[in-house]
Amino acid sequence: MGRAVPDQGGRGPCAKKEQQATKARMDQRTRERLPVLPVLQRIAAERRKSMAALLEGARNAPPGQAFECGDDVFRRPAPGTDKQHAMVWAEHAATGLRRNLTREERDSFWAWAAIEVLSRTGIRVEELLELTHQAITSYRLPSTGELVPLLQIVPSKTDSERLLLVDPELADVLSTIICRIRMPDGTVPLVPAYDSYELTWTPPMGLLFQRTVAGQNRAFTAAGIREVIKQTLEATGLTDATGDPLHFTPHDFRRIFVTDAIINGLPPHIAQVICGHKKIDTTMGYKATYPTEAIEAHRAFIARRRAARPSEEYRTPTDEEWDAFLAQFEKRKVSVGTCARAFNTPCIHEHACVRCSLLRPDPAQRHRLIEIRDNLEARIIEAKREGWLGEVEGLRVSLAGAKDKITQIDQTLAHQAEAVELGMPQFADLAGRSITTARTQT
Ligand code: SF4
Repeated sequence: MGRAVPDQGGRGPCAKKEQQATKARMDQRTRERLPVLPVLQRIAAERRKSMAALLEGARNAPPGQAFECGDDVFRRPAPGTDKQHAMVWAEHAATGLRRNLTREERDSFWAWAAIEVLSRTGIRVEELLELTHQAITSYRLPSTGELVPLLQIVPSKTDSERLLLVDPELADVLSTIICRIRMPDGTVPLVPAYDSYELTWTPPMGLLFQRTVAGQNRAFTAAGIREVIKQTLEATGLTDATGDPLHFTPHDFRRIFVTDAIINGLPPHIAQVICGHKKIDTTMGYKATYPTEAIEAHRAFIARRRAARPSEEYRTPTDEEWDAFLAQFEKRKVSVGTCARAFNTPCIHEHACVRCSLLRPDPAQRHRLIEIRDNLEARIIEAKREGWLGEVEGLRVSLAGAKDKITQIDQTLAHQAEAVELGMPQFADLAGRSITTARTQT
């Protein structure tokens, strides 16, 4: 009888068991954190705004005087008692706690920025730290001239670059970051960063994740990102299954991104490309669901796709087909906005665009929707008066649709009012001078 061979060198049944236990632990982390991500995002955004308001209030208050912010009362220290004159401090009137508002505002901003970028892109923390203002690029659709913003992820763990689509929310976050780090002359400061994989310092670059420490612009480190996220998490009061405070590492956002994308129907091989994984096994290892669920969802997706798309379409498109594809963007234009139905599919809602969820209303056509709404209200009154009760129900549905589109436009306009014009990026040398200017002078 031979004896069982013990595990050697990390291979064998013990290593496999360890791997499975790690995967189960990571899946549990993701399952716990995925539902609370919106809470974390909301609190990070609220904390950034309230800290900015508190700092602004303190700056406007005369030294030694009290000022209010929300329900709290603070007092600026008397002249000459600020620990560092570059920092703004305030004392909470009720508790007497002295707070460094400059640092708290700075950290709350970068926590919000890191949480937003990590959760909306699924990039690694080292890729986040390497993002520069030049990583934001765009592609112009040849037919409509529409600009599609893209984010270029430079190699970190792998050698292959990749491009991610920038949605409007992510574009807002990136523009807010650039506005914050820009110098008065509009240039983005160039800072060196330490590459923990190569164990070298990189040349100075216009990194997006940089902050001012003791009057100097310095690149963020992974530890710095973890620290500011931890501070925001403490403000949320979220707890895990055992009742302990919930922790998020930057990699948790990546696992959540993959899980959420695949659960919502993104094919795993597309998620693999977006995440920059060489093997699909790695992507699926990130997804916190059971294999049976993944296999069934994938098979259902393939079945749906094959039913909708005949096999002859799995080939290189002809020039005519490509032109037809590009032309679809022009054909989507309707009087009150843009139709978002899939390419080469007919309208199945009898062109009742005001009632259709696929309509993306155009803010420029708001007046037209107001006219439609007023007209519908008048027709409902008329129908009731004349006893055409069969029409009233349908008119009410259309009225609700028109009101909904007007609300969507108002929300978009309110959102756009907060957006900022970025202009063209410029370069600065280490002394902070604009390189363009320096060249002109020589
Ligand atoms: S009804 Fe809907 S699907 Fe049809 S054209 Fe209008 S927006 Fe597009």
